Amino acid sequence: MPLQNQSAKLKQLFSKRVTNQARIVLDCYQKCKASDWSDKNRVRDLREASDKLKKFAQRFEMSEQNEIANKISSLLKLLPGDAANSESLETLETFIQELNEHTLRKSDLAAEVEEHEGVSGPRTFLRTPIYIALNNKEFANRIISQLDFFGFRSICFEKPENLIYASSQNKPETIVLDVDFGPGELSGIAAAETLQAKHETPIPVIYLSETKDDIHTRLRASRSGGEEFFYPTVDPGQLIEKIEHYTHASPQDPYKVLVVDDSQSQARYIDNVLKKGGMLPFTITDPMKILLALEEFQPEIIIMDMYMPGCTGMELARVIRQQYRFHSVPIIYLSAEDDLSKQLHAMSQGGDDFLTKPIDPKHLTSTIHNRGRRARSLLALMIRDSLTGLYNHTHTLHLLEQELNKARDKGQPLSFVMLDLDHFKKINDNYGHPMGDRVIKSLSLFLKQRLRKTDHIGRYGGEEFAVVLPNTGESDARTIMTDIRERFSNLPQPHGNQSFTVSFSCGIATFNHGKLEENAKELCEKAGQALYQAKHEGRNTVRSYINDLLT
Ligand code: GH3
Ligand code: MG
Ligand code: MG
Repeated sequence: MPLQNQSAKLKQLFSKRVTNQARIVLDCYQKCKASDWSDKNRVRDLREASDKLKKFAQRFEMSEQNEIANKISSLLKLLPGDAANSESLETLETFIQELNEHTLRKSDLAAEVEEHEGVSGPRTFLRTPIYIALNNKEFANRIISQLDFFGFRSICFEKPENLIYASSQNKPETIVLDVDFGPGELSGIAAAETLQAKHETPIPVIYLSETKDDIHTRLRASRSGGEEFFYPTVDPGQLIEKIEHYTHASPQDPYKVLVVDDSQSQARYIDNVLKKGGMLPFTITDPMKILLALEEFQPEIIIMDMYMPGCTGMELARVIRQQYRFHSVPIIYLSAEDDLSKQLHAMSQGGDDFLTKPIDPKHLTSTIHNRGRRARSLLALMIRDSLTGLYNHTHTLHLLEQELNKARDKGQPLSFVMLDLDHFKKINDNYGHPMGDRVIKSLSLFLKQRLRKTDHIGRYGGEEFAVVLPNTGESDARTIMTDIRERFSNLPQPHGNQSFTVSFSCGIATFNHGKLEENAKELCEKAGQALYQAKHEGRNTVRSYINDLLT
């Protein structure tokens, strides 16, 4: 791609990121307004979002956005929650309007995308919401307040026509819909059919049905984008889990493909084909660099030339297979070799597929897609816990070691956190084991929502969790975990028509640069001791270990 094009594309990408952050600011502002500025957590969310916008706009040199964010952030600093007077709120409103208009002008790219999706008319600049269209208003409100706790924004509808209109203006992430929402027996499904017709990609619908469960209804529901069908009732906790699933599952990360080929031109060609196919390639032309590439890039699939200087593809495959983490990564050989017996021999040496040159781009991308999908689900079985989808014990420790090495190299701090639910046995005893499982899942979801994408969350044992926080010192880790602990302990856990709350205790150990030899095992032990201390001191609290001292 010519350099000019590339930089234009980068610029577009950056402007999109700033636009997205601006939307988050607008979204947080709406939430503060909705709670009449009385909820300190929301005000803090807004302040954080605005600070982040400032940072992004600065980094990507978007001066106007930077200026507005600056004004908002400065004003918010003078706004310590209760001192919010009407004058400063009015000023804030004008800044927000400015940001709104600006986002509208700047987001040409987003406008193009949305036009493509068939959206017209005035657009709102909020993070895409979840639409709730249920006949039982009380139940709907319970779901909405639960979702709010987890940081999702949702909107409730009274009539099918409003749902259809709103979906055409602002495509929701997920719709929760009664099969009989509206006047008729199947008018909910009919509404979904109408609104899906306006979008190229379907919106996932979660259907609830109290009375109808026949195959015709289920088929029609499924055809109208129905991903789930709950009959005759659904537990709110279960519903939230499904909403979370569809809300985050949609944007799939591209497959990470490592290409090893000593021919520059061949490598560049494959690199190009893969990029066009929506994948993320990383190419090396020197097979001796394989170990570093594996470690740094962490590929999900490897494409390898058969004959290279220094070693053959088969030899390299054997070395790759000797490493635990890459034991099941698919290896695809690429070669001009068309002797079938040689191909078969190559496959027996740790390869999974054999493609002959010249390679057809379509064939290559579809092979990678198929292999990639299977590799991901296999890997998930290996490294993830089936109840929560979090990393399992072994893999969490593996990630801790990896991050510890990075922290050591870069001279950065790192915190390791252990959490354990308080008096969990009683939850099982009082409400039953399935309810206990749901609580475990709700903490898992809560952590996923509140922590950064770069943090690693694991299920350490039954009702124990562990979190690796890269580039995070003790005081930041403590602030983050205290905030999560407080919020989680207030989260109502729905049980039938009632609810209860659960808390957790937390121990933190921070990597100490004075002790460079400190290893993962020692950090775990320290976090465990801090956790024990937290339990000992009455639970529902955070304790940390720094410089050999428990605080
Ligand atoms: P403490 O505050 O001291 O941590 O008390 P506790 O009751 O949470 O601790 P204890 O270790 O005595 O009990 C943990 C309980 O967690 C025992 C076990 O039955 C339950 N548990 C462990 N894994 C699971 C699970 O996957 N699902 C459910 N529902 N319960 C689990
Ligand atoms: Mg416990
Ligand atoms: Mg325990």
